[in-house]
Amino acid sequence: MSIAWTRLPFRFEDEADYTRRLQAWIGEAFYERLPAAGYQVREEQIYFAYRVAAALHSGRPILAEAGSGTGKTFAYLLPAICHARLHGRPVVVATATPALQQQLAGPDGDAAALSRLLDLEVDARVALAPEDVVCDLRVEGAGRGLAGGRRIAGRTALLRWAASSATGVRSEHPGASDDLWRLVAWNGDCRCDTCPRRGYCRLTRAREHGRGAADLVVCSHDLVLQDTLGRDRLPPGRLPVLPPFSGVVFDEGHRVAIAAQRAAGSSLAVGAVLEAVRGVAAQGVRLRLIRCIETAEEAVQAFAAALAAASEPDSGGPRRGVRPEAALAAAARVLRTALDRLQDEMAVEEGLHEETAYAQRLSTYATRMDAAQAALTGLGDPARVAWLEKQEGAAEEVLWVVPRDLGPIWRRAMPPRTPLAFSSATLAGPDGSFAYAAASLGLRDALGARVGVPFRLARQVVCYLPRDAVAADGADFWSRVAPRVAEVLAATGGRALVLVPDAGALRELRACLDGPGRLLWEGDAAPEALLREFASDVGSSLVASNFWEGIDVPGATLSAVVIPRLPLPGPDPVVEARRQAAAAAGQDPAAAVDIPDMTLRLKQGVGRLIRLESDRGVVAVLDARASGGALGAAVEAALPAGARRVRTLGPVRRFLEAGAEAPVRAAERGAGRGSG
Ligand code: SF4
Repeated sequence: MSIAWTRLPFRFEDEADYTRRLQAWIGEAFYERLPAAGYQVREEQIYFAYRVAAALHSGRPILAEAGSGTGKTFAYLLPAICHARLHGRPVVVATATPALQQQLAGPDGDAAALSRLLDLEVDARVALAPEDVVCDLRVEGAGRGLAGGRRIAGRTALLRWAASSATGVRSEHPGASDDLWRLVAWNGDCRCDTCPRRGYCRLTRAREHGRGAADLVVCSHDLVLQDTLGRDRLPPGRLPVLPPFSGVVFDEGHRVAIAAQRAAGSSLAVGAVLEAVRGVAAQGVRLRLIRCIETAEEAVQAFAAALAAASEPDSGGPRRGVRPEAALAAAARVLRTALDRLQDEMAVEEGLHEETAYAQRLSTYATRMDAAQAALTGLGDPARVAWLEKQEGAAEEVLWVVPRDLGPIWRRAMPPRTPLAFSSATLAGPDGSFAYAAASLGLRDALGARVGVPFRLARQVVCYLPRDAVAADGADFWSRVAPRVAEVLAATGGRALVLVPDAGALRELRACLDGPGRLLWEGDAAPEALLREFASDVGSSLVASNFWEGIDVPGATLSAVVIPRLPLPGPDPVVEARRQAAAAAGQDPAAAVDIPDMTLRLKQGVGRLIRLESDRGVVAVLDARASGGALGAAVEAALPAGARRVRTLGPVRRFLEAGAEAPVRAAERGAGRGSG
């Protein structure tokens, strides 16, 4: 064990002594030093910190759940900083959202606050994905008009900024759309290994800055997973983005599984492959190459048709399943062979045109075809699951082929005994266990820690589960539930967040709900603008399918969370793969997957209600399945323990009227995207 004696905030004799001293120091920080600076003592937070500290030191993964308001960021940062200093290597703190990265490592962020309050001089730096930084060569090329293509609004302003910015980091020019940003950003086609700017450009500087962190490297889930899983595929001379590290804390840990599957999987966009195949053609190429291009083009088109035929219809969820049909497997085989032959011919062509722009272009296309080949190879493999997905800002749907079991990924990505801590407000299932989260992540021997919220939810929340709730079966569900939603909104005076399971449900409800009060609908404006409007217009209600988590609207403006229909998972291919794994293990898929998945989502939604000690509000669940049976038990587990359950709207009105007389500190924090 390498020991950085002078940098730890305490001295110790040996390993057992380290654990004791660390606990004592954490206790002193939370019981004395932070309260002296105005922070409240929260036993939940201190327990959480002790458990994370013990897990980091033991090298075992931990799933750690702490509700909103616990202060879990400080609680994992203190042990993480000590762990980094003990081992002389930083701890990676990975998040799902850039906002949380700023909250952690920004100039006024949590690491800076701990530095100031505990005399720690924490060195925390954000490590950026290369795609979020400009490539100097591409900036110059775009400036000279080499990027070509259509004129995009804002191009001149972007190029002016990109030419003069000291850092070239995307967050400095937030107005740039994805299309615009692509003109100047680094991408996989950049040939850094042969670039004359190598070692001096802004991307190099950004990378060196992140790699130099002594205590904490803050980055996205995607970055840490792609960087660690891709180390063995790095081109010669290219360093990983992250430095050697001593552990990883995943904040927003409930969102890691999908990021890990993507990082370990392969993707293929039909349009991009077609573009690469067609791009190979150049004036005066050999006849043999032209024939290969034509064959590959036909094979891409045949594959696209087979893929469309094997795809599940859009169910309103984020992903569409792809059935393992024989015709698709055959089309994939034909395309692989065609791309193989084309790539052989491209290699000959590269040799004939060495050191030319054409050879460089061929090499870029070959890289894209390699990625497509990986996806084609995995298609039909029973150990993999395939889905189609159109991500925000993307030009086309992408085929993902990813491993079902994430267990081997952690062994591949992380050196042995690298501690992994997954922190979130929602990880435990309806029985309080972490079985579902652990299975989703492929963790076999994870520890678990769970603490409640420091709020007095029994006094702050009333749960409305109507006696005559709405039966969930039938195609007319939304027209039957809409008047019941309206009743609740009338009782709460608006001020409600109405959460529906998916985009399809949002459309259905919109067709039959028109008030009372002003309704704001997700999709009518950018999320930030909608949230600002919702927060400032106190009587309005916001209806959404994507705000179950990640939004923070404190105060009276969000006095009710209305859930018309339980968010059981739909025909999502990822969930379906989990169901199949549960069935193969002899479990009931509904009990092992659907109900825990729904419970986590419900807990996330309910967690939007109480963000401050002064908040009060109502959770209304209008789906008849919320009472009785296994679903009813799961709903009970997701609702605040001890909060009054009522069956009619009279007590809801009285509860909110009584709350209106209590002081409401709505201005304590602004609304926005948040964590937990
Ligand atoms: S080294 Fe890479 S990122 Fe830097 S200027 Fe060259 S090609 Fe662009």
